[in-house]
Amino acid sequence: MYRLLSAGVFLVCLSSALGFHVQVQGSRRHLQKRASALSRMAMSALDEPLIRIGHGYDIHRLKEGGKLVIAGVDIPYELGADAHSDGDAVYHSIVDAILGALSTNKDIGMLFPDNDPQWKGADSSIFMKEAVKVMEERGYRVGNLDVTLILQKPKVKDFKESMKLNIVKLLKTTQNRVNVKARTHEKVDSVGECKSYECHVVITLEKL
Ligand code: MG
Repeated sequence: MYRLLSAGVFLVCLSSALGFHVQVQGSRRHLQKRASALSRMAMSALDEPLIRIGHGYDIHRLKEGGKLVIAGVDIPYELGADAHSDGDAVYHSIVDAILGALSTNKDIGMLFPDNDPQWKGADSSIFMKEAVKVMEERGYRVGNLDVTLILQKPKVKDFKESMKLNIVKLLKTTQNRVNVKARTHEKVDSVGECKSYECHVVITLEKL
């Protein structure tokens, strides 16, 4: 329906631009009403594009003790994430990417403040579910998602598939639309010195 309306608006505009007279049947008042409705639909199409793109980034310090949870997977390691919630930088990046793609002018810290006791130690899948709810209410679904996880240690290649499946399930999408890759930071800076780990995410959303 959305695509048909957009195509209709485009054809009318194109015809006018090429100098063709667009014949529309009806009274003057009726034509004014239709023109007004068409204008509102055109504005709506401009406000809610077919494709939206978002970027998300997060970093967490690593500390002695605690858990290292990445994309919902418990990773066995001597260091854990230093965070108010479970410190899942992948989920946090995805949430921010979705909120950014939707131009909400909000980020994960505004929705789930890190000084709110109810989010202490929280499972970050809660934040993912809320972001998906916002996305669905706006009439979008995931186009595709590309995750770049950056950490020096431990090696996560054996966990990437589980991470991907967790993301696919939470975003209500398919495996073909999600990619998870991981790399080191070449032993430089805080990530390379195992003092932190970080994540970048790019997402596209499709209008339903
Ligand atoms: Mg975070």
